[in-house]
Amino acid sequence: TAKEQGRSRFRFFDAEVRTRTERETTLRQDLVDGLVRGEITCHFQPQYDAETLDIIGTEALVRWNSPSRGILSPADFMPHARKAGLVARIDAQVFRHVIAAQSRWAAQGLNFPVVALNISMERLLGDGLVEEVRWLLQDHHRISFELLETAFLDESEPKLLRRLDRLRQLGIGIELDDFGSGHSSVVALQTVRPDRVKIDQRLVDPICTDPNQLLVLQSLTKIARLNGAQVIVEGMETGIHLAAIRNVDCDALQGFALTYPMPSDEFAALLRDSGYCVAN
Ligand code: C2E
Ligand code: MG
Ligand code: MG
Ligand code: MG
Repeated sequence: TAKEQGRSRFRFFDAEVRTRTERETTLRQDLVDGLVRGEITCHFQPQYDAETLDIIGTEALVRWNSPSRGILSPADFMPHARKAGLVARIDAQVFRHVIAAQSRWAAQGLNFPVVALNISMERLLGDGLVEEVRWLLQDHHRISFELLETAFLDESEPKLLRRLDRLRQLGIGIELDDFGSGHSSVVALQTVRPDRVKIDQRLVDPICTDPNQLLVLQSLTKIARLNGAQVIVEGMETGIHLAAIRNVDCDALQGFALTYPMPSDEFAALLRDSGYCVAN
C-alpha cells in the first residue's frame, strides 16, 4: 500500500541521514587525530606586483594532508572544523607551518616576501595569541593576517581592534579579505584601517563580460586608497582577467592565471628562479 511504501521510503531516508552523520563524526575524529599528528599544512599562492609582475608576497592556504583521504582543500573540511570548534587550532598549526617554512627559506639564503595568513575570529580573539606570535616571530619572519570583513562590527569589536593594534606593533600587516562582499565594507574599512584590502573574487569575474564592472573595481580601489589601504585583486583566473585589470589602478594580483597554490618547496624553487636568492 501507499502507506507501507511511504514508511519504507522514510526508513531509507533515515538510514541515509544516519550514514551522513556517521561520516561527519568520522571526519571530525580524523581531523582531531590529524591535528595531533601534524597533518594540517598549507600551500602558497604567489602575489604579483600589478605593474611589473614581480612576486611581492604569497598567501598561505590551509590543506589537510590526510593519509587516508589525500590532500583536502578548506571547502572539504573547514565547515566541519567550524562546527567542531577546531578552526583556531587549525589556524595555529598553519601559523607554525609558515614560521617553519620561512626559517627553511632563510636557511637556504632566500630573501622571501611576506606571507599572508587567513585568520579566523576564534583565533584572533582567543587567549594567548599575541604572546604566541611574539614568541615565535623572529626578526626574519614576515607575515600579515587576512581577516574577513564580514567578521567585524559585532559586540566583540573593541576587543578585536585592541588586538589588531597589538599585532601591528609586532610588525604584522592587517588585511581585509573578500572586500566588497560584506554588507558594511566601507564601515569595516574605516574601522579596521587595514594595510591592504583584497577585492573579492566574485566582483572580479564579471569584468570579462560587463564593462560597468570595471568602474565598480576602479571605485572600490579608489575608496580603499582614500582610506590608506593598498589593493590586491584576487581571482585572476584567465588571460582576459589579466588584460582587463590593466584598467584598474591596483597594487597587486593573485590568481590561477598567474600561479596555482603550491607546496612550500615548490614556492622556494619559484623564488630562486625569480632572483630572490639575494639574502646577505
Ligand atoms: P580566500 O582567503 O579568499 O582564498 C582564495 C581562494 O581562492 C583559495 O582557495 C585559492 O586557491 C582560490 N583561488 C586563487 N586564485 C583563484 C582563481 O584564479 N580562480 C578561482 N576560482 N579561485 C582562485 P582555497 O585554498 O580553497 O581557500 C578557500 C578559503 O578558505 C579561503 O578563501 C579562506 O577564506 C579559507 N582559508 C584558507 N586557508 C585558511 C586558513 O589557514 N585559516 C582559515 N581560517 N581559513 C582559511
Ligand atoms: Mg585570503
Ligand atoms: Mg579572498
Ligand atoms: Mg574567498
